[in-house]
Amino acid sequence: MSEKPVILWFRRDLRLSDHPALADATALNRPIIPVYIHAPEDDGTWPPGAASRWWLHRSLVSLRTRLKERGLDLVFKTGPTVHVLKELAAETGATALCFNRRIEPAARQVEATLATQVKELEIRGFHNDTLFEPGTVLTRSGQTPYKVFTPFCNACREAPDPPRPNPLAKKPRPFSGPVSSVGLDALNLMPETPWHTSLAEAWEPGEPAAQERLSRFVTAHLADYPRLRDRPDIEGTSQLSPHLHFGEISIRQVWWAVYTQPGDHAIFLKELLWREFARHVLYFFPHTPDEPFDPRFRTFIPRTDPASLKAWQRGQTGYPVVDAAMRQLWATGWMHNRMRMVVASFLFKDLRIDWREGARWFWDTLVDADLANNTLGWQWSAGCGVDAAPYFRIFNPVSQGTKFDPQGRYVRQWVPETAALPDAVIHQPWSAPESVLQEADLTLGKTYPHPITDHRKTRLEALKIWERIRS
Ligand code: FAD
Repeated sequence: MSEKPVILWFRRDLRLSDHPALADATALNRPIIPVYIHAPEDDGTWPPGAASRWWLHRSLVSLRTRLKERGLDLVFKTGPTVHVLKELAAETGATALCFNRRIEPAARQVEATLATQVKELEIRGFHNDTLFEPGTVLTRSGQTPYKVFTPFCNACREAPDPPRPNPLAKKPRPFSGPVSSVGLDALNLMPETPWHTSLAEAWEPGEPAAQERLSRFVTAHLADYPRLRDRPDIEGTSQLSPHLHFGEISIRQVWWAVYTQPGDHAIFLKELLWREFARHVLYFFPHTPDEPFDPRFRTFIPRTDPASLKAWQRGQTGYPVVDAAMRQLWATGWMHNRMRMVVASFLFKDLRIDWREGARWFWDTLVDADLANNTLGWQWSAGCGVDAAPYFRIFNPVSQGTKFDPQGRYVRQWVPETAALPDAVIHQPWSAPESVLQEADLTLGKTYPHPITDHRKTRLEALKIWERIRS
């Protein structure tokens, strides 16, 4: 038995259970050196944003503790990755590298470089982040990637079940020699402004919290998911997205925890397949984070309007439901899915600002910022992606508010200036008689903005533009 150690490289898989690379490293029965390498360049032009860095810091604290309980010291390094791994091999005599593969284009490029440039290590990469390995779900006719969700979803349903999650691997063997480490704080992940204190009130990063959230969702909310999932004023969804993004819980663990529950949970499982679809799309169309999938949209010239963009970012558009959503995002690093669609449609179709500006803002402020899901979500909303919302589908911020926040609870929580308005006008304060506004202590243009755009007018303009693009 060789005593040469094995490097276990943690990436977006910050957990110990159902961790293929950890299971492999343990099965090799050799001393393990767990390492996290901070190398923002490995994400190309999409390095983690501010909210993600906050989450990552906290998640690494949790992972370090979990590993320590199992006798392993997590080593921290700063990139470049290839250089670090070569040095680590030279320093410790390690001869193998175990890691879970990622699907993002820049991360895959790093994996390809490892294979050619790090000859001193046996490279052992594992499929991890999707239910079905990219390339295994293809159209029957042409063996090409699916570009439409429903047939993709059907093909996944007809495929053999995804693998069941593995339990926690048996106790790994620690490496006893010295290993240099920079320490977590040296990664400088925490934001400079104290903005993150509100994130800490909203979230508990790490594997134990992810497991707890899944259990709570399954017992308390799963049954009502089909009825309540579109309501931003009610906790009706799982809020597992940041945990899934950082791999604190595996997609297989979530799938099987729900799939094995009595009852029909097709609607929730379908959302997991949207995540799956987003990953397959990014894998096969790696240009989509930066370019519309539909080439006709390359001719579209967006408006440059920094004032409106800022109003959108700060939740000051004068449309209460849009503002509530943007303020929820700023305060908690998360936004309800329906609201993501509403604010994205508003930015691109009402304000006609480039969807990439919105995607970038989400990237910096979401704790679940995820290249595959964010790209799919923005391109779907803008109408320029695979299987996108039809061009004529322009969300009306008033009717969306009335339908999905019928008592105005969501708006009152995040836009307190409007809190005293009656339900009938909470989603359109400008339509309230002056006396009602006075009674509610609200002065448009002073305590709350006038709408920055007239939805009825911009909708018609947008429709004309889309007609032109399509023809
Ligand atoms: P649940 O409803 O509980 O769903 C469970 C899981 O399924 C989610 O955690 C997520 O992993 C997956 N899922 C659900 N809906 C979708 C969807 N529409 N597309 C892909 N996966 C889905 N999701 C992200 O994780 N990161 C992003 O950066 C992101 N950006 C988005 C941007 C826009 C403009 C839009 C419209 C959607 C975006 N989404 C993104 C998808 C979706 O809004 C979130 O995944 C969801 O709101 C997360 O909340 P939840 O965990 O409570 O979801």
